[in-house]
Formats: sequence, C-alpha cells, structure tokens
Amino acid sequence: MKTYQLGVMHGDGIGREVIEATLAVLEAANQGREQVKLKLETLPMGFSAIDRYGHPLPEETKEKLAQKDGWIMGPHDSAAYPERFKAERNPSGELRHYFDLFANIRPAKSLKGINGLVNEADLIIYRENTEGYYPDRNMYSGVGEWMVTPDVAVSSGVFTRKAIERIARAAFEAAMKRKKQVTIVHKANVIRLGTGLFKDVCYEVAKEYPEVEVNDFHVDAMAAHLVKRMNDFDIIVTENMFGDILSDLTGELVGGLGLSPAINANESQAMAQAVHGSAPDIVGQEIANPVGIMLSTVMLLEWLANKHQDKMLLNLAKKIETSILTTLEKGETTPDLGGTKSTQTFTEAVIKHLD
Ligand code: NAD
Repeated sequence: MKTYQLGVMHGDGIGREVIEATLAVLEAANQGREQVKLKLETLPMGFSAIDRYGHPLPEETKEKLAQKDGWIMGPHDSAAYPERFKAERNPSGELRHYFDLFANIRPAKSLKGINGLVNEADLIIYRENTEGYYPDRNMYSGVGEWMVTPDVAVSSGVFTRKAIERIARAAFEAAMKRKKQVTIVHKANVIRLGTGLFKDVCYEVAKEYPEVEVNDFHVDAMAAHLVKRMNDFDIIVTENMFGDILSDLTGELVGGLGLSPAINANESQAMAQAVHGSAPDIVGQEIANPVGIMLSTVMLLEWLANKHQDKMLLNLAKKIETSILTTLEKGETTPDLGGTKSTQTFTEAVIKHLD
C-alpha cells in the first residue's frame, strides 16, 4: 500500500488556526480498519520562516516539497513582509512558478444550509497559473513590471501557446467528466494579441473535444453574467488575473470567501490552498472559517486518489467532505456565515459528524 507524503505549511495570520483544524479532521477521519497511509511533514513558510531562516520560503522547504506527493498550504501575509521581500514573488506565487503548477482549479458550489447570493450554482474555474497579467510570474528572470519615470509605470502580460494549451486541455478534460460545457473568458476586443491568443488557442484545443459545447465572453461581461445567471455555467477557463478576480466573485456568490477551496496542480504534484488570504483583521480571535482549506484538502486527496487509482483514499476524501457538508447543513457555522461556532468548536462538530 502506498504511503502518501504530504508537506504542510501553516503560513501566517489565520493559517495556523485553519491548518490545525484541517489536520485534526484528517487524523480523526483516517481511523479504523481502512486506514490510508499518510505521512505529514510540517515545513517552514511565512513570518516564522523569516525569523528562523531569513526568508518566507526557504530553499529547504522547496527541496522537501519536491519529494512530496502533495502539499497543504496555509495563507501568507505577504503584504506585511519586510520591504526586502516585496520585490520577490510571494510564497504561493513562487511555488506555482517554481514547480510549474499550471492549473489553479477553483470550484464554486451552492451548499445546503448556506445562504448564498445565488442558489443551485456548481461551476469550476480553471485559472492559468504561471503567466498572464501577473508580472512577478511571467518572466524567466526579472520582473515584468517597471517604472519608466517616478510617474510612469509599465506592467506586462505574457501569453504563450504552451501555457494556454495545457490549461485549456485540463479544462476540457474536466468538462468531459461533467456537463460537457466550457466557457472561455478573455478580453480579446481590446487586448487583442494577448488574450486574443488565449481565446484562439482555447478554440483550437476545443476541436479535440467535439462533444463539448463551447462559448466565450469578455471578462467584464462575464462578471455581469455570473451575478445574473451563474447557474448557466459549468467549466470556465481563463488567464491568471481574470481567474483570480472571477473566483473571488463566484466564491462570494455561493456564500463567502471562507468557504472557497482550490488546488494548484500539474501532472505530477498538487497543492491544496484555500482562496482566502491570512485575514489579519480576525487573527487570534478563533473565528476563522476552516472550510476553505478543509475542502481544498479534500480536493487534494481526490486528485491523489484519481492519480493513483486509490479507492480507499477517495473514500477518505468523501468521508471528510460529507462531514463538512453535513455540519454546514445543520447550521453549525462560524460567524462569517452567521453562526456562533469558533474555529475549534466547528472542527469538533465536523469530527463528530464523521460517523
Ligand atoms: P483576506 O482573504 O485575508 O481577507 C479578506 C476578508 O475576508 C477579511 O475581512 C477576512 O477577515 C475575511 N476572511 C478571509 N478568510 C477568512 C476565513 N477563513 N474565515 C473568516 N473570514 C475570512 O484578504 P486581504 O485582507 O486582502 O489580504 C490579507 C493578506 O493575505 C495580505 O497580505 C495578502 O497579500 C494575503 N493573501 C494571501 C493569499 C494566499 O496566501 N493565497 C491570498 C490572498 C491574500
């Protein structure tokens, strides 16, 4: 039986609270006769790593992550890092870039017991994760953003056939297992060459999947369509920044940022990482919602289970997911969702519902 090696990075702010909650649920769920072999190793990232190693993402962490099957990553408070780290990629940007985790997969689904602004929605955003309009990711060396004079700034966007083809293929493969429907999001009416290439290459890839129904929208119109008729969409494929923005929107539409899960993946590795940040405004209050990273961890386990054709691991993922959803459905929620549970008592409720 395979032993799954998982790297765990707590990160900053509410990271410690939500990651510890997730590990408690994972441990409680993986008891009994049908145990999956999991080996977890905590690795430094964030302010604690700056204190101990002089860097928010030490080389040692990257070296160890390279040996793991998957990683669970808490949020970083990179906006508050000392000035000397601000010109560098933040820890998650660096990990996505360094390990070429090209697909950021961000589902948004209406959940029973959660009062979202829309109901019955169930879509997944496939966000290209390595280039586009994020100038700290889109260069081999240096940063794709510069000041011509103190009053003139230039930011670049990079679009390559290789990166577009692989995110489009990932999106179409996912569509084949769902409703066979893909929406391409771009801004090709104005950013004709960059996002025009994105759109065109996605349509080229679409020819390999004749069963899939494809349409496309400009990103501004897409924001309006999502608010008005989110239920009409299933798989959305888009570039880095558009995907980042639209996934915050879809997360909020189905109930809130604290619920939104994601994984970052390539063909061989995947990283669970909730959509939210380190939430410095609520750190230490024990009210952080751990559902985002818990469901991200479920996604990671499912991804590993599919990769290794491991039914027991898939069962473990389903068991955790069912328990989280049952807890939410019973109205046992943290204050961001209108409930009275603390991070710890919510976690205890999830553990109770595992049975
Ligand atoms: P944020 O996501 O941390 O917080 C936005 C709002 O949502 C806050 O009011 C916060 O309290 C609330 N919130 C977020 N997660 C929550 C949770 N799990 N439970 C309850 N409420 C939650 O965004 P921000 O304030 O713009 O950024 C704070 C820091 O996080 C910055 O340093 C930013 O760079 C960083 N950040 C990191 C990541 C990441 O690690 N992937 C993502 C986004 C932002």
